[in-house]
Amino acid sequence: MTAIYDLHSHSTASDGALSPEDLILRAKEKGVTCLALTDHDTVAGLSAAQEAAKKVDLQLINGIEFSCTWNKKTFHIVGLNINPNNPELLAGTKKLHTIRTERAKKISKKLEKNNIVGAYEKIIPTVPSGMITRSHFAHFLLEGNHTSNLQQAFDLYLGQGKSAFVGTEWASLEDTLHWIHAAGGVAVLAHPMRYKMTASWMRRFLTAFKAEGGLGIEVITGRPNPDETRRALHFATQFELYASMGSDFHSPKNKWIELGRLSPPPQNIKLIWELFPQQ
Ligand code: AMP
Ligand code: MN
Ligand code: MN
Ligand code: MN
Repeated sequence: MTAIYDLHSHSTASDGALSPEDLILRAKEKGVTCLALTDHDTVAGLSAAQEAAKKVDLQLINGIEFSCTWNKKTFHIVGLNINPNNPELLAGTKKLHTIRTERAKKISKKLEKNNIVGAYEKIIPTVPSGMITRSHFAHFLLEGNHTSNLQQAFDLYLGQGKSAFVGTEWASLEDTLHWIHAAGGVAVLAHPMRYKMTASWMRRFLTAFKAEGGLGIEVITGRPNPDETRRALHFATQFELYASMGSDFHSPKNKWIELGRLSPPPQNIKLIWELFPQQ
């Protein structure tokens, strides 16, 4: 049987629509043989996901997607094959929980200035892990008919420079990689082309990332664009990084992105799963 890898996905432990169990069932149904659950800044979904994965004989890689600030810019760093019980990693998630809580309260206050009240109070009981993201606010705005779709919530309120945007200092690159490594994992730069960064800034970032022990970069993502794949592959080769691939699946409602629906792995490059224990 050919292995089908999808090493980036979300559950209700952060801003995904499916519970960890339902995510596993859907991955199985879509033919994925090895899935990584990588919720934003939390490992809260992993134990339920592991239990469900065992039942359907799917390999689940314990993962996380850390929010990180480097040179005032936000990057997402996926940690793969982590021990979710590692105390240093857990201290990291706790720090980000505090940052996310404070930020969510500020976003809510800014929305109040637009006469949109009670966002934080409405959202908090719906997120058991407490990891509130802008996606949660986008859904809140949509449900209250303040916007007509999720994208518009970002365009009108939540996006950078918009009225409810709150600039945030996430974890440092050094701390992020330290937590991932302390937990025995490998660090992968998520969706490198989504940062809209110049090639020269990307090279600066990747130099710092490598210096801290970063090993991988996502080359294949859920919405393939040949030009972006080519550029990501070029960075991977230039910086001798392992290539990863992941859909960044959040919800079945997004028809563009599906678990396991990815281009074939790139050729002539080391693949990140070569570093994982074989099942
Ligand atoms: P945060 O980490 O709280 O800033 O939230 C980022 C999350 O919001 C991402 O992981 C996406 O799930 C979602 N997101 C960001 N930008 C958009 C957008 N333009 N449209 C829909 N969802 C978005
Ligand atoms: Mn998300
Ligand atoms: Mn991301
Ligand atoms: Mn993601």
